[in-house]
Amino acid sequence: MRHDDVSLDNCLKCSDCNTVCPMLAANPAYPGPKHLGPELERLRREGLPCDSDWLEYCLGCHRCDLACPNQVNVSELIAAAKARHSKTGIRKFRDFWFARPALLGRMLSIVPALTNVLLGAKVARFGMGKVMKITDKRRFPPYARPNLDLPKTTGGKAGKLVFFPGCAIRYNQPDLAAKVAQVLNRNGFDTEVRDAGCCGVPALANGDGVEARQRAAANVEELSRAVREGARIVTACPSCGHMLKAGMADLLSDDPALEGKARDVARNTYDLAELLMSRSDDGALDTAFARRDMKLAYHSPCHQLSQGIGRPWFHLLRQVPGIAIEDLDAGCCGMSGTFGFKEEKYPASMAVGQRLFDRVAETRPEMVVTECATCRMQIEHGTGVRAIHPVEILLEAYGQRGNGDRHG
Ligand code: SF4
Ligand code: SF4
Repeated sequence: MRHDDVSLDNCLKCSDCNTVCPMLAANPAYPGPKHLGPELERLRREGLPCDSDWLEYCLGCHRCDLACPNQVNVSELIAAAKARHSKTGIRKFRDFWFARPALLGRMLSIVPALTNVLLGAKVARFGMGKVMKITDKRRFPPYARPNLDLPKTTGGKAGKLVFFPGCAIRYNQPDLAAKVAQVLNRNGFDTEVRDAGCCGVPALANGDGVEARQRAAANVEELSRAVREGARIVTACPSCGHMLKAGMADLLSDDPALEGKARDVARNTYDLAELLMSRSDDGALDTAFARRDMKLAYHSPCHQLSQGIGRPWFHLLRQVPGIAIEDLDAGCCGMSGTFGFKEEKYPASMAVGQRLFDRVAETRPEMVVTECATCRMQIEHGTGVRAIHPVEILLEAYGQRGNGDRHG
């Protein structure tokens, strides 16, 4: 990781990072980014003992990085310390699996119907709570066969795309891949699926820097080959997008050749809505939308904001006649991937999400739209309001339905 390059002298101790930290706002005992990042880093570099379980409470939202006026890469300092943080016993075992959603997904999607029955059974959830320290208050998302066959197209005038699906789409909602491809095909893109497994965000979030680096190295080789072949990369998951655009080069900074390839991939990676909005700005977006009379609320995931591309889904959906959409603008949902599943982290996760839950209750939408799978889980869990990926609404506005569509 690049944390050694970050000049700690850049820290002005202004506390701007603390003012935007969702964990600190909801859980005042949390020491905050200034302390866990630059302040403790000085001691860590002196070799002084300052390991802390609080490192595990950082949500990796990058809001502190965005707020810092002096370019201290605060969350990266915390992630690097988290990767060296000592864990023991069952929490270490649980987090090993949480760091590897592709391995878990491959196993759990062999017989998905059986998996889903077992994961939903009260006794299994009670057992997971007791043995694995996974909260029994949440339900795991259903697993499905990872069938990512996309509709075949050739000769699209807008160019070739490689869709990087990520683990949530591949193992839990594979029908979304075809929906993404249908929307892209409609706008002139030829799309194929290519990746080398998980992007590495779950590994980093669970303090497994070695696994995160391995994931980055594997994906960089695969995706840089696609870029050399003239394709652009597109993601529909903001965490994958954040990793491809910003995370991989940092993880691979110890190897100049790999870092160079990662920067090439980053320059050629687009969020799905970012790409469609750029078509819209060029007057090239297919806007033959059918009217959809709906009241929606939009939640912007942290890893969407950290990409610095604004809220392209919010602006795209506003173009569909009949849709009334409100930007919830309520900060982090508190789920942070697997964080909210951990028994000891569940109260902190829900405390962070409360502001968003209150905004949903106040807005009273038919549905919430947000592009992050775990934000959707948290919103449904905290509010009871259905949350879906915005591409589903766009596809319906085009008068098309994906295979296996569950949206009525
Ligand atoms: S990444 Fe987010 S949760 Fe972690 S310290 Fe920074 S602002 Fe707080
Ligand atoms: S890390 Fe940045 S925002 Fe935080 S106290 Fe230091 S200078 Fe201020």
